[in-house]
Amino acid sequence: MKVLILGGGFGGVYCARRLQKIKKNSMEVEIISNNNYFIFQPLLPEVASGTISASDAVTPIRQMLPNVKFRNAEIQNISLKDRNVKILQGFRRRQHTVNYDHLVIAMGQECNLDIVKGLKYHSLTMRDLKDAYNVRNHILRCLELADVTKDEKLKRRLLNIVIVGGGFSGVETAGELKEMTDRLLPYYRNIKKEDLKFHIVEYSKNLLPELGYQIGEYTKKIFKKRKIRIYLSTALKEVSKYNAILDDGSKIETNTVISTIGSTASKLVANSSLPLKYGKIVTDQFMEVVNYKNVWALGDVGMIPNAVNGSTEFSPPTAQFAVRQAKCLAKNIMLREFNRDLVRFKYKSKGSLASLGSKVGVGKIFFFTVKGLLGWIIWRAFYLTFIPSVPTKLRVLVSWILEFFVPRKAVLTESLNNKPVSYEIYKKGDIVFEEGMIADGFYIVKEGEFENIFRKTKDGKIFKKIYKSGSHFGSRVILEGGRRTGTIKAKKNSVVLKIEKDSFKILAENFPILSRYFSNYLPKTFKKLNLNEINDNT
Ligand SMILES: Cc1cc2nc3c(=O)[nH]c(=O)nc-3n(C[C@H](O)[C@H](O)[C@H](O)COP(=O)(O)OP(=O)(O)OC[C@H]3O[C@@H](n4cnc5c(N)ncnc54)[C@H](O)[C@@H]3O)c2cc1C
Repeated sequence: MKVLILGGGFGGVYCARRLQKIKKNSMEVEIISNNNYFIFQPLLPEVASGTISASDAVTPIRQMLPNVKFRNAEIQNISLKDRNVKILQGFRRRQHTVNYDHLVIAMGQECNLDIVKGLKYHSLTMRDLKDAYNVRNHILRCLELADVTKDEKLKRRLLNIVIVGGGFSGVETAGELKEMTDRLLPYYRNIKKEDLKFHIVEYSKNLLPELGYQIGEYTKKIFKKRKIRIYLSTALKEVSKYNAILDDGSKIETNTVISTIGSTASKLVANSSLPLKYGKIVTDQFMEVVNYKNVWALGDVGMIPNAVNGSTEFSPPTAQFAVRQAKCLAKNIMLREFNRDLVRFKYKSKGSLASLGSKVGVGKIFFFTVKGLLGWIIWRAFYLTFIPSVPTKLRVLVSWILEFFVPRKAVLTESLNNKPVSYEIYKKGDIVFEEGMIADGFYIVKEGEFENIFRKTKDGKIFKKIYKSGSHFGSRVILEGGRRTGTIKAKKNSVVLKIEKDSFKILAENFPILSRYFSNYLPKTFKKLNLNEINDNT
């Protein structure tokens, strides 16, 4: 009998672990995940803030599950009819088929950034290790530039950090990042503490709505004391390259929007024939997918009824529930094999805790509310016991102890966020690039209109050029060298596709149609402009 588990998060790993403990010899357990490590997501804000190093917050799945077969691959398709799963694996991403007798779907959820215009192009997220790493590098990059720039407008923008969502993830991210920047600012002598502003935008009436009014008020008070601005009953309406626009029409000028809102099923789940409700897989009380025998779902991907106290509620998407479901599900697979009655999933939450940074925590444990230093100590102790491997526990504990004695490291490492091709949104009046800048990319206008103003024509005349949907700009300096000779400004609210400069250069020089096109286009378009090149001293 083969049990195939899809996803190496809380649900998948704990289910495999339980099966590993109770399995009989005839059972093979295989787990497939696109990361070869298990990430303890509640620690992500601490990774972003540099309290814990990225590698210390994760545990290799092979080390956690030595008796389970592990495959590092991308799950591409689930065929319920043929009882197999198609995966892409290896350097060349070849497709393979893996069969199963029992299928456990534990693939979690993905970020849905389509819920707010521009969020997908101009925000950072907080879902996996790469995200935490990118957030940290991005903020350090903003501090580095803000410390040296003479452009006050740019400085203001760099020092406005907007966090979207005031739930656990948003509040913990804001608290941790604020603590990180407070500790780092003494090393950035041109940035005053009051220059750096954190903003939390939350749709509901209070922060941490899951923990009730009292804790929400307390969190608000703590954050206000730390000068974190809170916008309650407020929705983010749009994000553009330089602004976060709220539903009351106000704008926060910013280069940093961190989104902790919006979850959705992966495309693979959404496009399968699995029964879905609110984007989640519908299961019965035993976690078996409705109408599919021996196909199970758990964790964030599932709509799992919780039979506690005869309730008909569904389980919330938390690690605490995923772990309990995993244990129950593993038992049910064994019971099914022995033709015994399955057990219903029932679990009463023991409570929830959140860290607000700077040694302050809040939470509810059973009926008790904890807050302040005590809340923070309980939060740390709880998560330490919850981390599933002893070496990872030790690494995290050492990092936490070191925190008391050594300063945070403001090391800027290479960001993983350099996308070769991306969309960018510009509002009317926004500048894409200015005269004198070096090239950063090639732009194709998708929507709207841009104006290019060349001031440095040899005869001193100002020359204007308009780019509408379908036209492009930014190629000349990448392909011929030098500095930007014009300033490009959005004349309307617009969207561009940006190809990062090195990728564009390789493409334009090596793809014959493109190289022919540009060797024609450049002399034809720019020769008659009679441009005065900007030299390095400008
Ligand atoms: C920042 C943050 C803080 C949180 N804090 C808390 C907290 O304090 N307390 C709490 O209880 N919960 C917390 N949560 C929620 C908790 O982490 C989730 O509820 C839990 O991770 C759900 O477990 P899961 O196994 O369903 O999904 P996940 O843990 O998300 O695991 C899904 C796995 O599937 C893999 N996968 C997905 N698609 C594919 C594919 N196509 N191919 C291969 N592999 C794939 C992923 O790589 C991942 O390994 C937090 C979440 C976040 C993001």
